[in-house]
Amino acid sequence: MTDNDVQPQDNTGANEESLRMVSATPIGNEPVSDEELRPHVLDGFIGQPRLKAQLQLFLDAARKRDVPPDHILLAGPPGLGKTTLAMIVANELGVPIRVTSGPAIQHAGDLASILSSLDAGEVLFIDEIHRLPRPAEELLYIAMEDFRVDVMVGKGPGATSIPLTLPRFTVIGATTREGMLPSPLRARFGFTAHLDFYPHEELEKLIERSSAVLGVALAEGASAQLARRSRGTPRIANRLLRRVRDWAVVHDLDVVGPDDVCEALALYQIDTEGLDRLDIAVLNAIVRNFNGGPVGLNNLAAMVGEESETVETVCEPYLVREGFLMRTPKGRVATAKAWEHLGLRPQDDVSKLF
Ligand code: ADP
Repeated sequence: MTDNDVQPQDNTGANEESLRMVSATPIGNEPVSDEELRPHVLDGFIGQPRLKAQLQLFLDAARKRDVPPDHILLAGPPGLGKTTLAMIVANELGVPIRVTSGPAIQHAGDLASILSSLDAGEVLFIDEIHRLPRPAEELLYIAMEDFRVDVMVGKGPGATSIPLTLPRFTVIGATTREGMLPSPLRARFGFTAHLDFYPHEELEKLIERSSAVLGVALAEGASAQLARRSRGTPRIANRLLRRVRDWAVVHDLDVVGPDDVCEALALYQIDTEGLDRLDIAVLNAIVRNFNGGPVGLNNLAAMVGEESETVETVCEPYLVREGFLMRTPKGRVATAKAWEHLGLRPQDDVSKLF
């Protein structure tokens, strides 16, 4: 069979990532509801102990020297706390923060006008900094290094550039794709932090903190059930907690137990390992249709009715990280852990089972 032979079984998932309960990027009005759960001081930021210690030292030194700190780059997958940390830095320094993002800046002039309106010491947070257009990126190098921006006046052959001196400020860049940042830009950051996925114990603490803010009383064991389904990601942990709060409200529960968490999240088809319907469809396709693989990405995507890119960027990273799937030169292979998770043994001849 070739990649072209397989017909999609179901084509409903075109924009699957934006609908997934286990998406690490914000869904619905989460950018607003995220705010109520953000810690405002470094002490309230859960986990990432080494990063916190480094950042504390970095900020203490800037405060003692009474200068704005060097520029900071925060790198890591979505939902791990980059925006939160940027807000915390500004708050700890007692300075305002201006927020923008790579895609929001379409022309170098957009960035020039933001830069030229910054006050001394202000923090400029640029989310998805790897998506800045090239000319804006070049303007940013100069602004970060020399605290200067060249403002173009007029158009065509008569245009002139007037250098404008900027007060000292701090850029905090956030990126999910550090590799896409050109090295001259990367070199302008005096402090780079890499955020990692959170272990279960840290997510449990985070869930306990969030449940106190949201007013959800969790019985012993409930936060552990939530943590193991949260894919190492605070944003997902907070989202699942909100859905568990819905469950508690509708069922008039004063205290939410571990069984309530399991039932509530089973309703959303999120299993004990944090896999959702799409992840399970991918594993089922490899195991049941291709006897465990190897299978090409296009074939696999067609089997589950998804774009190849969705399968590759949305499902696979977590499945690979958790040891359910391997990417080999011949294609995707389901591991023994995947077979077991589906209630099968790797040596089962699946063609005889169905
Ligand atoms: P990112 O910018 O990396 O996508 P955010 O900073 O927006 O992630 O974090 C997503 C949500 O998770 C926010 O509601 C935030 O408060 C919460 N969060 C992230 N990291 C932590 C943490 N270490 N401690 C407490 N809450 C966190």
